[in-house]
Amino acid sequence: MVYLDYSATTPVLDSVLNSYIEASKIYIGNANSIHKLGGYSRSIIDEATEQIKNILNIHDYDVIYTSGATESNNTIIKSVCYTYKNRGKRILTTNLEHSSIIEVLEFMKKQGFIIDIVKTDENGIIDLDDLKNKIYDDTILVSVCSVNSETGLLQPIEEISKIVKNYNKCFFHVDMTQSIGKVKINFSNIDFVSLSAHKFYGVKGIGCLIKKKKIVIEPLIHGGKSTTKYRSGTPPLPLIIALSKALRLAYEDVDKNYNYILNLNEIIKEKLSKYDNVFINSNNKCIPHILNISILNTKPETVVHALEQYDIYISTKSACSSVNKESQAVYELTKDRKKAMSSLRISISHLTTFEDINYFLKTFDYIIKNLTK
Ligand code: PMP
Repeated sequence: MVYLDYSATTPVLDSVLNSYIEASKIYIGNANSIHKLGGYSRSIIDEATEQIKNILNIHDYDVIYTSGATESNNTIIKSVCYTYKNRGKRILTTNLEHSSIIEVLEFMKKQGFIIDIVKTDENGIIDLDDLKNKIYDDTILVSVCSVNSETGLLQPIEEISKIVKNYNKCFFHVDMTQSIGKVKINFSNIDFVSLSAHKFYGVKGIGCLIKKKKIVIEPLIHGGKSTTKYRSGTPPLPLIIALSKALRLAYEDVDKNYNYILNLNEIIKEKLSKYDNVFINSNNKCIPHILNISILNTKPETVVHALEQYDIYISTKSACSSVNKESQAVYELTKDRKKAMSSLRISISHLTTFEDINYFLKTFDYIIKNLTK
């Protein structure tokens, strides 16, 4: 099998899965229980949380465990809107957000909130002057995705955060789901971050909402206080242990993995750019882990299913975006509706081998020649 859909989800590492299994067997107590077993569980969760804070260098933040980035994104937007609605009703975002942001914002619009969209330049990068112009007195939140899941476009988060910091009534949220473990981003000046373990070789079913300690929000899920009042319920200890281990492993080799993946990406790009009808949509502002292409006059689903016959797995768009709609993310980069309708995503990892890429390229060649015959 050649799996080239790592941005949809990553396989769990054996060592991470083993930590999950071991923790499930050893720490049977509920971390909310007051007895000794509860105490052991709570202290092991505290240790894992401390490790996450050390890795990300976020000592003045709360790490709140959620079921994944969709829940983190929902909680941040809805909770900020609910808690700070008397401050203002505007939210500023981009045209490059994941469906778990877009759909929540659509919902908030129906509740009377106003959604402003910041302009992007010809490369899809946020226009910083437009950003300054569009943060009004009643803007309560700016929400930006660090890396777009379809194209790999990386936004200049630090520069954006320095601007938003000047507006003391406005919070800054970054959806880091696609950047964690791939590129390092400085958290200072960011108020909220979302991430998800299954994007960095962790177990599915856990993510984090990272929040500056001093910010108070109304939780989305109410119940007992648990380890945090911001997300009630019995803390999923084995998932937390596995997340903190996956994060440690991902951070250990970020730079080494980046260079290896860049090499693979360049090989694929070079070969694919030789076809007249294949266009590379990802530009040099995109991280190499994600390569978006369009094959004109070919249905992307046809290519995905043709490759699948050879046990090769790529993606049409983000796994979570709606089918039969052009890709907004690709349109932002190409300003070309045909390319936005026919885009494919190849997402690679440090687990991808040169043999995988050769097999993919050979099969791609065969398929394209047959499809365009
Ligand atoms: N944000 C981005 C940028 C994503 O790529 C994804 C997953 N495709 C999510 C949020 C949602 O993550 P989860 O699957 O953990 O809910």
